Amino acid sequence: MRLRHIPGSEEAIASSPYVISQPEQYKGRFRELFGNGHPLEVEIGMGKGKFIMELAERCPRINFIGIERYPSVLLHAIKKREKMDLANIHFLCLDAKSLTEIFSPGEVNRIYLNFSDPWPKDRHAKRRLTSPEFMKIYGQILAKDGTLEFKTDNQGLFAYSLLSIPESGWKIAAYTKDLHHSPMAEGNVMTEYETKFSSLGNPICKLIASR
Ligand code: SAM
Repeated sequence: MRLRHIPGSEEAIASSPYVISQPEQYKGRFRELFGNGHPLEVEIGMGKGKFIMELAERCPRINFIGIERYPSVLLHAIKKREKMDLANIHFLCLDAKSLTEIFSPGEVNRIYLNFSDPWPKDRHAKRRLTSPEFMKIYGQILAKDGTLEFKTDNQGLFAYSLLSIPESGWKIAAYTKDLHHSPMAEGNVMTEYETKFSSLGNPICKLIASR
């Protein structure tokens, strides 16, 4: 994502009621934050938050947390959130590297990765959100029967992920290289990037992984 720093974004995020400023204090207690025992689903790298907010609207009996590391990007999600009446979603501004400091083992029921940055150079492979390094982190916070869902239009990143995920000890439960013409499209919520790239004619790839 091309990034333009928005002056004041850090301050706006620090004072937003929609962003949890000290998430470590909820480790193992996120259901208390939401005030119910509903399952917890997390999107990592949510960007401007279109996907996770539409999903939260559609699924009121699921708790959602949207994670984005850049304040200037998260600010767009906050502005959208302010116009919506949702009781089941919060945001975190942090790098996915620190997920085990935030969530306790098994606390998360589903992880979504949507149009993650491809990091095409080999020397940056560890930064890909489907690398073995990140899969190990997800494995520590995901419930035993939890799943990870990944969508992208980037063929190189998808091919890499079809190998890196099983190499990390996970199973690929299902996948398609043309989501919008596949039975896996049922109930699909489009992300911002998905809307943009599918309108250019790019096929969308999706996989579901479990352990
Ligand atoms: N998911 C959105 C979509 O599909 O429209 C945005 C996709 S955008 C290409 C990827 C987003 O992931 C960026 O906003 C980026 O800042 C965020 N991101 C990348 N690596 C991250 C990490 N390690 N932790 C948290 N966010 C990350």
